[in-house]
Amino acid sequence: MTKELIHREVVIIGSGPAGLTAAIYSARADLHPLVVEGPQPGGQLMITTDVENYPGFSKGIQGPELMQEFREQAARFGTEFLVTYITEADLSRRPFMLQTDDHTIKAETLIIASGASAKWLGIPGEAPAPHGLGGYGVSACATCDGFFFKGKPLVVVGGGDTAMEEANFLTRYASRLTVIHRRDQLRASKIMQDKAFKNDKIDFLWDTGVEEILGTPQTGVTGVRIKNLKTGEQSIFPCEGVFIAIGHKPNTDLFRGQLDMDEVGYLKTAGTSMATNIPGVFACGDAQDSFYRQAVTAAGTGCMAAIDAERFLDNLPVPLPTGDEITIEGEIVTADHEKIIMPDGEVVPNHPESDTIHGD
Ligand code: NAP
Repeated sequence: MTKELIHREVVIIGSGPAGLTAAIYSARADLHPLVVEGPQPGGQLMITTDVENYPGFSKGIQGPELMQEFREQAARFGTEFLVTYITEADLSRRPFMLQTDDHTIKAETLIIASGASAKWLGIPGEAPAPHGLGGYGVSACATCDGFFFKGKPLVVVGGGDTAMEEANFLTRYASRLTVIHRRDQLRASKIMQDKAFKNDKIDFLWDTGVEEILGTPQTGVTGVRIKNLKTGEQSIFPCEGVFIAIGHKPNTDLFRGQLDMDEVGYLKTAGTSMATNIPGVFACGDAQDSFYRQAVTAAGTGCMAAIDAERFLDNLPVPLPTGDEITIEGEIVTADHEKIIMPDGEVVPNHPESDTIHGD
């Protein structure tokens, strides 16, 4: 079957807050962006109920409704959407080549906003409603949902920094907070462990696995079925909310071997811009941020990535992770801003009044 060929100046992969903000900015810059929506259009907010910390909504807003607003705003300025996902990406030269089942997409610049997915245990009761109690007491985001559990006994599953951070945060609301961890030692950094151990609202259940989340959409979560992994003994532990905090996985496998990423898969960007190691490829949102992971910070970096792509297409220098800056013509401004290395290797001073320096 012949694939449809699409060629765009800006292609954005992902349609969460980062991708759609990048779309709004590049559409308003008249760059006619194409958004490839991915397997979960709208991103993680589509599985969140009330969003009360997104600025501008004093009465809060439902996650899906917020994403619909983002999408309509992007569409209003001429963003095109493609509901599919990328199966292959060749970033070895511009235009970058992306493949879907039905399309070959050529991208002069690429903005990766493919997000991250919370890892789940894969146990009964955990899936989003109607298949489980997701949205009815099961969550993977304390900052998003903690507020709804005032005065309730809660469980956090996991033993890393995320689990400790979620546990400490949730003690603002919880009547009692129990961390359930599969080993008898935490993986979290010392400072995060100390904070959790000093918090007298937090208890620990060691060497324990969670096997099932109990309850109904009518009652919400009523408890978890747990198993002592040393003795095999099973029991029911009562609680009214379960936060799964066993890590996140950025959706970046497609770019492994092409883009620089950390050991978990978070894409590395320049710091002073959203540029990756490949000129013309930018990354934003949870695909590159392991630390803040908020809708508003994702939107902020989406805006930055769009401005970087626009600058790049306008032949203005964009900072790279090395500290050098690069233009679309391949001219490199050195990190100290003293020299420009031309595509043919000639080195010229970056001062109009200086003489030409010849490269070796
Ligand atoms: P992580 O360090 O990989 O920890 C995941 C935790 O979940 C581990 O304790 C692990 O148990 C447990 N776990 C994983 N799969 C499990 C399963 N199937 N069943 C039960 N337990 C399971 O992930 P993270 O805590 O999200 O941290 C990720 C990175 O972000 C780390 O580098 C961390 O330092 C960083 N981070 C930093 C901060 C901060 O500094 N404020 C906050 C959050 C995250 P085991 O220990 O037995 O493997």
